[in-house]
Amino acid sequence: MSTRPYDILFEPVKIGPVTAKNRFYQVPHCCGMGHLRPQAHAAMRGMKAEGGWAVVSTEETEIHPSSDLSPYAEQRLWDKRDIPALQLMTEAVHQHGALAAIELAHNGYHSPNLFSRTPPLAPSPMAQHAVNTLQARAMDKRDIRELRRWHRQAALNAKQAGFDIIYVYAGHGMTLTQQFMLPEFNTRSDEYGGRLENRIRLTREILQDTQEAVGDSCAVAFRFAVDELKGMDGMQAQEEGRAVVELLAELPDLWDVNVSDWSNDSQTTRFALQEGYQTPYIEFVKQVTTKPVVAVGRLNSPDTMVSMVKRGVVDLIGAARPSIADPYLPNKIRDNRSDEIRECIGCNICVSADNLGVPIRCTQNPTMGEEWRRGWHPERASPKKSDAQTLVVGAGPAGLECSLQLAKRGYQVILSEAHTQLGGRVRTEAALKGLSAWGRVADYRTYALKQLPNVALYTDSRVDAAMVQELGISNIFLATGSHWRADGVGRSQRTPLAGLSQRPQSVASSSGMSVLTPDQIMAGHAIAAGPVVIYDDDQAYMAGVIADQLSSSGHTVTFVTPASVVSPWTEHTLEQERIQATLLQQNVQIITGKTLHKVDADSVQTRCHYTGTTDAIACATLILVTERLPDTSLYQALDALKQTEAAKADWQITLIGDALSPGLIADAVFNGHLAAENFQADPLRIEQALFRREMPSLESA
Ligand code: ADP
Ligand code: SF4
Repeated sequence: MSTRPYDILFEPVKIGPVTAKNRFYQVPHCCGMGHLRPQAHAAMRGMKAEGGWAVVSTEETEIHPSSDLSPYAEQRLWDKRDIPALQLMTEAVHQHGALAAIELAHNGYHSPNLFSRTPPLAPSPMAQHAVNTLQARAMDKRDIRELRRWHRQAALNAKQAGFDIIYVYAGHGMTLTQQFMLPEFNTRSDEYGGRLENRIRLTREILQDTQEAVGDSCAVAFRFAVDELKGMDGMQAQEEGRAVVELLAELPDLWDVNVSDWSNDSQTTRFALQEGYQTPYIEFVKQVTTKPVVAVGRLNSPDTMVSMVKRGVVDLIGAARPSIADPYLPNKIRDNRSDEIRECIGCNICVSADNLGVPIRCTQNPTMGEEWRRGWHPERASPKKSDAQTLVVGAGPAGLECSLQLAKRGYQVILSEAHTQLGGRVRTEAALKGLSAWGRVADYRTYALKQLPNVALYTDSRVDAAMVQELGISNIFLATGSHWRADGVGRSQRTPLAGLSQRPQSVASSSGMSVLTPDQIMAGHAIAAGPVVIYDDDQAYMAGVIADQLSSSGHTVTFVTPASVVSPWTEHTLEQERIQATLLQQNVQIITGKTLHKVDADSVQTRCHYTGTTDAIACATLILVTERLPDTSLYQALDALKQTEAAKADWQITLIGDALSPGLIADAVFNGHLAAENFQADPLRIEQALFRREMPSLESA
């Protein structure tokens, strides 16, 4: 019998008393749903099982009120009252023949306990991880006994909820088991502190407790961060990381290994482009234990997966983000449809939602997080309601996604793009330093559109109102994008910058200084000799990317922002510290807490946000990264025509993406998808029920 190259990925793997039907393993990942949105959670996890993942895990699950992660929406199993909500997930996962795993966690000094108002626990007394005023108290022996009892009870409750795999979790710097292991947090002098054997005592006890409590029918997984990427200042894979695996080698049924903290585990492509970036740290594990090993590293490509299994690096292919971007990844590989995989671009917009306490979203997969409340499916579209023709203008992320979803629904689609290439801002932003992987947003959609017979793609085709009239198509989606303002107006200042000409799109100040926006940088505008000042009042990623690009290519750059750090929004994508470190290493002068006040002949004036003090900075090129303006001229022209008797137009004109509301690429993709799904849908449904909501029960329990 001939074997196909990826067959090895579909071999079953025994994990203690249970068996995974193939090697695809969705490791625990946060999703902003947790105990607050159990139906949405179950539907999202169930979708992964439907897409072929053999194991589908929860996010971290609080086991006790002293591990209360509010206001974040994580999973909760404080007591039996939480079982029914979790059961929704195990049932959804089991329905498709997958195993359900739960990541039990006590977060120790990482728990804010803002809801429970319980003093946080830690190996030794210490300030909390987050900036909170309540310090963590040191656990005494009774606390340790209690912790073991809570964990054991949570394992039993998890088994009752239907879970097949129960985790003990020592990763991301987030849990007590790991905090006990690390001398940085554990300065105890009893048998739980000091040498490594003592520092892993708690983990060993909890692993044994869990095996005794549920090991007869459930597998016990151990999630362990082998390296903290802190060098000598933390756990290292070749030092204590390896020693821990050696000491506990056969105790768990499964080793789920990664690097710590979360920003190292979930690195973005901006800082770690290659998939499998964790392999150098975790590859020793399989040599030390006979138990199956799962690991992650933004694994999208089936060839890399096969190679990792064949080289003996892992038994199971771990994925969080690739399973978010494409819940159907395993089935696509199985069915020889690898070229249809919606590859994760490593942007961490999914992570940002969890950090903001709202349901997960994904740049590549607009249906992520919408499975229950909007009934969206990553592979299926609601069937068309008529034989209507549709015209989409603009092939950025919004226009591409809107066209794709309209076409999948069965409508005839004409997509017209003014530029020679498709992609819009995806194409231009992907050309910036570190963002090349973002191009996949356009690549995936372009490929998919080209497979569909009901789509006509036109490039070099700028559409004007007369052309729309000529075409005679009345269903028009305008995805014409936006442009960056050049007048300094932004969140900190609502009037144009003094010293600039008053036209919002000017590129030269009255003094002759070169004044640019990101649009000109992305278009390859030459930078004059002399100092560059980047003014960031956008405070997301763009200004930091440009500062990185220009400083690394030899320009002298000063970065001015009213914020207190560079690119503060990127804290949500776990990138902020890396961005600031990169700029500092490249000698960018960073000036925080200041707005731009005035542009002079060869300098700009800053004003202190707090004291009003002004300062001058030498400047030959000023780059303003403040705010964007939607490009709505075609919309306005069509709207005006629509009013005239001559046109008699029965046009349905829908403005989408950045032309409606400039935002992230993820927002544009989502908005394009939404417009396509809402097309010819019941208007009452659209107006009255934007989406289903999970209402709090008024019963007290
Ligand atoms: P979004 O993020 O909303 O998709 P983008 O700015 O990425 O927006 O993309 C907008 C795209 O629309 C650009 O590629 C631009 O060239 C194209 N475009 C703008 N106006 C027209 C027009 N009148 N006809 C055709 N294409 C247009
Ligand atoms: Fe990947 Fe970005 Fe989607 Fe997260 S949001 S899964 S990083 S594409």
